[in-house]
Amino acid sequence: MAATPASNANLFSVLRAGFPEDLDGTAIETVGETPRYYTWRDIERATAMFANLLDSLALPAGARIAVQAEKSVESLLFYLAVLRAGHVYLPLNTAYKSDELSYFIGNAEPSVLVCAPRDFARLSKLAFAAGTGWVFSLGNDRSGSLLERATHFPDTHAPAKRGAGDLAAILYTSGTTGRSKGAMLSHDNLVSNAETLKTYWGWRAPAEGADVLIHALPIFHVHGLFVASHGALLAGAKMLWLDRFDARVAVSLLPRASLFMGVPTLYVRMLAEPGLDRVACRNMRLFISGSAPMLVETFEAWRGRTGHTILERYGMSETAMLTSNPYLARDGERRGGTVGFPLPGVELRIRDDQGHPLGRGEIGGIEVRGPNVFAGYWRMPEKTKDDFAEGGWFRTGDVGKVDERGYVSIVGRSKDLIISGGFNVYPAEVEAALNELPGVAESAVVGVPHADFGEGVVAVVVAQPGAALDGDALLASLRERMANFKVPKALFVAAELPRNAMGKVQKNLLREQHARLFQAQ
Ligand code: AMP
Repeated sequence: MAATPASNANLFSVLRAGFPEDLDGTAIETVGETPRYYTWRDIERATAMFANLLDSLALPAGARIAVQAEKSVESLLFYLAVLRAGHVYLPLNTAYKSDELSYFIGNAEPSVLVCAPRDFARLSKLAFAAGTGWVFSLGNDRSGSLLERATHFPDTHAPAKRGAGDLAAILYTSGTTGRSKGAMLSHDNLVSNAETLKTYWGWRAPAEGADVLIHALPIFHVHGLFVASHGALLAGAKMLWLDRFDARVAVSLLPRASLFMGVPTLYVRMLAEPGLDRVACRNMRLFISGSAPMLVETFEAWRGRTGHTILERYGMSETAMLTSNPYLARDGERRGGTVGFPLPGVELRIRDDQGHPLGRGEIGGIEVRGPNVFAGYWRMPEKTKDDFAEGGWFRTGDVGKVDERGYVSIVGRSKDLIISGGFNVYPAEVEAALNELPGVAESAVVGVPHADFGEGVVAVVVAQPGAALDGDALLASLRERMANFKVPKALFVAAELPRNAMGKVQKNLLREQHARLFQAQ
């Protein structure tokens, strides 16, 4: 007899269906001085208690529950409980300050805010003034009013019925350019992506010798919250849980794990650990990188040290995962500097500024379509309209190309595109050329106002350890390799590049820093 289709599209119910039969096995083990073990049954019961607490508040339909709390297993469980109770989860970067939070709270109008105990006085004032009904606190040591209150509630709960198109989460974009926008993601956006990745990356269920994932990423972002957590829960795989990333600890966990997900910065830091070698990685099945471009140099250094070829993938808050290098050798090799092929069910095309199709190898705007693509930006219908082309194609704002074999590469963000003297300069092209020069570890290229050229190209370069860089010599080498209009008009050597929590270079900060450089010209 054919299986009955799931009657509830609630993401929580879908994830729960992936839990192993034996609910007494360990689902999450925290890594620290005193490890804690959470069974699958603990997840089931704790999410029920939180969900019952939320039900007791009699929140309106579609209520937003905003959370700015340190990473902890309890904050993950609370996320799952928000889904279970049928509300909309709104995670907030722990780095955001009061001004930024005022904007998010004013824009999203959450019914409930959960914050760190130490921020309670400050943030509850702010939230109550904006109309939020309840503020709870949650520390990463299981302190705070949220857990205290939840203990009074029963540990069984029937998940709220949700339709595929109902909202599950709002993710504010990380805002490396402009004001952050709330991407509205439905249950189906997230379910379809989790199921696709489960198959494509070959997540192993308990019957197949379950995967063990090192969970080292923050959970206010698509990467750690959705890709990593959903993957493990849906596969019934165990997580080794780090409340914060520590390269030495992560390397020490490798022999007990089969899967690791990181942003490129995490890989760079782990490469600096002497303990990272083939023996440490003997049980590893897969290393996945994304959220920011990985230098080919890092990709190769990792392969040299560990024998593993990192799988780089590409996605964003608005769409979850879009492309991935192949997992199986029969689908092709994993190519550094590319983000692989569109995932099954995802369509991807390249368009020029006027919306005309571009061919293989040609650089243009990346547009995507699929069940994972969000419904639009929260309370920004105009912005949503602008960002979708006819037929439901979302303009990602990323600039890239598809090569002859179908591999996608990201060349930059369209907003990062520099127009200098009427010529288009793609920062990633100049950065790639700089990164190849001897002694250069990495670089960032931005455009700043220039009286003659409109924008002038500026490079900030970081030296490899022990290397001394001569800016004039670097520029002279570039002149030999590329058209003059692309060669930076100024080059600075810096100790490091400014990055946000997800490892993305904050080009807006570099632009601000050098804004007046060419003013007098
Ligand atoms: P966020 O919404 O914070 O996840 O940021 C999404 C953006 O990160 C994308 O639009 C890309 O610009 C960038 N990004 C994500 N993954 C990659 C990758 N593998 N390589 C290059 N850029 C990436």
